[in-house]
Amino acid sequence: MSCELSETATPEDFARPRWVGQPDVLERAQRLSQKFEEAYGRAPVGVWAAPGRANLMGEYVDFSGGMCLPFAHQYVTLTVAAPREDGVLNAQSMQDADESVADDRPRSTRIDDIEPGVISGWFGYVAGVAWGMNRVARGASAHPVAVPELGLPTSFGADLMVDSTVPIGAGLASSAALECSVALSLFSLNTGNDHPNDALRRALARACMDAENYIVGANTGGLDQTASLRSHAGEILALDCRDFDVVRLPADPALAGLTWLAIDTRAPHKLADGQYSSRRAECEAAAAVLDVPTLRDALPEHPTPDDAAAVLDRFDHLLEVGAELTEDRENTRLRLRHSMTEMVRSVQIADELHSDSPDWAFVGRLLVEGHESMRDDCEVTVPELDAAVDGCLSAGALGAKVVGGGFGGSVIALVSLESVDRLAAAVQLCFAQNGFREPLFLTLQPSEAGRRIL
Ligand code: ADP
Ligand code: MG
Repeated sequence: MSCELSETATPEDFARPRWVGQPDVLERAQRLSQKFEEAYGRAPVGVWAAPGRANLMGEYVDFSGGMCLPFAHQYVTLTVAAPREDGVLNAQSMQDADESVADDRPRSTRIDDIEPGVISGWFGYVAGVAWGMNRVARGASAHPVAVPELGLPTSFGADLMVDSTVPIGAGLASSAALECSVALSLFSLNTGNDHPNDALRRALARACMDAENYIVGANTGGLDQTASLRSHAGEILALDCRDFDVVRLPADPALAGLTWLAIDTRAPHKLADGQYSSRRAECEAAAAVLDVPTLRDALPEHPTPDDAAAVLDRFDHLLEVGAELTEDRENTRLRLRHSMTEMVRSVQIADELHSDSPDWAFVGRLLVEGHESMRDDCEVTVPELDAAVDGCLSAGALGAKVVGGGFGGSVIALVSLESVDRLAAAVQLCFAQNGFREPLFLTLQPSEAGRRIL
């Protein structure tokens, strides 16, 4: 596989890249409201929108208490809703003809009947949120305190219709966008509060995370839901996954003539089943050897590359003197190295973004190191992801890396505004040369969190 560009290539030499247009959210909301009326025979009471996210650093470290650097992007999932008084939750999705949404029936359940193992397919993301809200309300989740405001009374029900402008299954968090728009709609319908504060948003993010962990059965760590519910426009979140505290980093690459380009590789999700969970198990096994609750606890408060190296040395030493390891030794060491270096890179980027004029070239280099770590140590990339990164770099991107869990999905690149078209063309050509599916291109802007829009 090679994505080297000839020095003389011009954009005209390449096939035209396919861009995902900017989402026309209000028009989609109005169309969805009409669909709602046709389906349910009554008018909806409102429309809620929640975004997907990108992540600059901190992949596969949220469950280890590491720092992530997500931002919400401008592509949202919409939920149009009206309340019911019979405890029933109904949902339909406009994506029912989408190959990535396996189960296309209109779905229905009594909220009281929702429990792990009973709801299949995409409806799990929706029903799971109602279940998760009740769980957080009564203090049964890992959220530090019970948040009774999230509780849904037994008689509470709702009719929902959803539509996503986030590419689905592309690593840009359509699942969190779906959960979070549903959560905001149910919360608003039940309480009349259209402007939940940050504390409530944090609790709603936990409810959405519980939905994904227990009702859908995906072992994810809360990064996506936090970004979708707690981001601010123009800012990157420094999210401390030990306690879900966030620091907001105003960091606008446009001031330096740069932008974020996402490439949805559309690579088929092969081999992904169980891989996220096995990475997590290996990280937990490494933490057990190091005798720390999570891998974040193996590093000091403000970790450096030397600290990361010292942890690896300690791990090797402990195994030499007979510490017990429950997972494969070589794999566990690789995952540990990824976790340590990734946590350090997050801190380095966050430090850089605190400055008034960040050194974006430095940030770009760290993105590339992050990708290499995802490829070589976490071992979650596929040829399409590596080719997209190579293609971006050979066409002059400052940096590029896989976003999210890997095994397909998207790459995010930091590119100069004037080179965006040439860069997309280069990646397009590279994909064609390698016989990959045609990728999709999006420019991403750090955008506001989920909210009621109508
Ligand atoms: P990502 O979150 O990166 O897009 P996931 O695999 O986590 O990828 O989530 C994708 C799944 O989320 C889909 O297969 C589907 O079950 C569900 N989903 C997301 N958006 C929608 C939607 N608009 N309608 C129905 N299901 C959706
Ligand atoms: Mg997801």
